[in-house]
Amino acid sequence: MAEKADVIVIGAGIGGLTAAALLQERGVSTIVLEKNSFPGGSCSSFRKGGYTFDAGASVFYGFNDDDRGTLNLHSRIFRKLGIPVTTIPDPVQIHYHMPAGFNVPVHYDRNRFLECLYRRFPHEREGIRRFYDELESVYDILNSLPAGSLEDPLHIAAVGASNLLKAVALGYKTLFSMGGTARRFIHDQELLRFIDLESYSWAVQDAISTPLVNAGICLADRHHGGINYPVGGSGVIPDALVKGIEKFGGSVRFRCEVEQVVIENGVAVGVRLKGGEELRARAVVSNATVWDTFNRLVADSRLKVPEDRFIKAPSWFQIYLGVDGSVIPEGFDMHHIIVDDWSKYDQYGGTIYFSAPTVLDPALAPAGKHALHVFVTAETWQWEKYDRQGDDYRRAKEEYARSIIARCEKILPGLQDAVELMVTATPQTHERYLNRWDGSYGPLLKPGQNVLRKPQNRTPVRNLFAAGDSTFPGQGVIAVTYSGVSCASYIARQLGKPLDYL
Ligand SMILES: Cc1cc2nc3c(=O)[nH]c(=O)nc-3n(C[C@H](O)[C@H](O)[C@H](O)COP(=O)(O)OP(=O)(O)OC[C@H]3O[C@@H](n4cnc5c(N)ncnc54)[C@H](O)[C@@H]3O)c2cc1C
Repeated sequence: MAEKADVIVIGAGIGGLTAAALLQERGVSTIVLEKNSFPGGSCSSFRKGGYTFDAGASVFYGFNDDDRGTLNLHSRIFRKLGIPVTTIPDPVQIHYHMPAGFNVPVHYDRNRFLECLYRRFPHEREGIRRFYDELESVYDILNSLPAGSLEDPLHIAAVGASNLLKAVALGYKTLFSMGGTARRFIHDQELLRFIDLESYSWAVQDAISTPLVNAGICLADRHHGGINYPVGGSGVIPDALVKGIEKFGGSVRFRCEVEQVVIENGVAVGVRLKGGEELRARAVVSNATVWDTFNRLVADSRLKVPEDRFIKAPSWFQIYLGVDGSVIPEGFDMHHIIVDDWSKYDQYGGTIYFSAPTVLDPALAPAGKHALHVFVTAETWQWEKYDRQGDDYRRAKEEYARSIIARCEKILPGLQDAVELMVTATPQTHERYLNRWDGSYGPLLKPGQNVLRKPQNRTPVRNLFAAGDSTFPGQGVIAVTYSGVSCASYIARQLGKPLDYL
């Protein structure tokens, strides 16, 4: 007899785990199947040489506890599950280091941040205020609406009945991009480049390609709910979701790779694992990317996703460093972005993302040391000429990593000599670990495309759903958490056990 559950979730990324935890808490039985031996996908931690490294994400929204609004999804979910996650407030979201001595720390205190911009661009004072106020107005709307499925007519009706004006205003704002809005108020080219970089920092696209609505969360909530880092590193978040699933009777099975979604008469009825085992369910949720779901897990060739249907975000070349602690000065911020040349900021390797989590949580490294994570955009084709087991591959990775570390001396003089441990990961590593096609950060909207055109949780196959960064609203841990919430809400209603609003 095949093992059964109400819902099977393929993948223990944050999108899949969130959906499973909320369903299980509501009494809908779930099994999560994860190919790795650990949960979290791009939001996991790994240990090496006494250090705990964040594999990917480390800037976290949604953890404030003041409940002035609905965007603190992590706090609300962990409260519902009764699983505590302790976080440390990060006083600076990102410290930007740009050409011509243009440096901006994005302080939690909004006025302090805006003052930095006013000082460099006194002639744009009014434009800066109006642009960032516009983001505040989007944030105010989003922060007053409950999270739910945009495909669920009852949710839409409930939101419409209680917040009609705000819902209409939000619908109107989906027509605009972040960059188009900036250009209405701001004309200085250097400042517009900074705004492009603000967008690129999480969306990997310029501001013209980024919906205003997404910017309204990322560039405003940092001054309200703020950025909070989980004590113990990013892996604490998926670990807590797994605990929540297990607490309510669900299970997360590791080292279980799904090979195929089993579809009978056009309806998803279960999955087949590598090795042949089959599990049956009333609904299946794929936390894999849209390309991996429909070009690999679903056998029906009519459902294949053409490579050009979405813009494929690049992948990453990542460096994890253990360094002597004396290289990090007192007061050093946790997150930094470095651009040496504006003409290359959006080219592979042009923007350096840098984080030093041990600034906030020293226990992630041995005493007197720091753990660093440095990464740049990259593509699998740049590395495919190497044999993964060969010396050439190892040497090329080390050489490229050293060149990036050298560029980081701009913010940390002496860094090259302070390195005591180095782990590198190419786009191939990312692809292999997470089953993500080409190691991509995920599908992106085309410039000007309305954010509501992003796929929601339903798919062309009945009872097959999707959660994660291929679905609305997109990339980022808080975004895929939203997608997990909306996916769980839709399925729970279908199964006759609607979720309460968080
Ligand atoms: C380098 C980097 C830095 C980032 N920094 C930030 C940041 O600071 N802040 C932020 O908010 N976001 C950040 N992000 C983005 C964020 O981490 C992701 O958008 C988010 O974690 C994606 O979650 P997901 O659930 O969609 O998918 P994933 O994290 O990809 O998880 C999917 C899971 O499914 C598993 N899986 C796939 N296929 C199968 C299968 N067939 N069978 C079984 N299991 C399968 C995978 O192993 C994986 O565990 C970063 C991402 C990267 C790569």
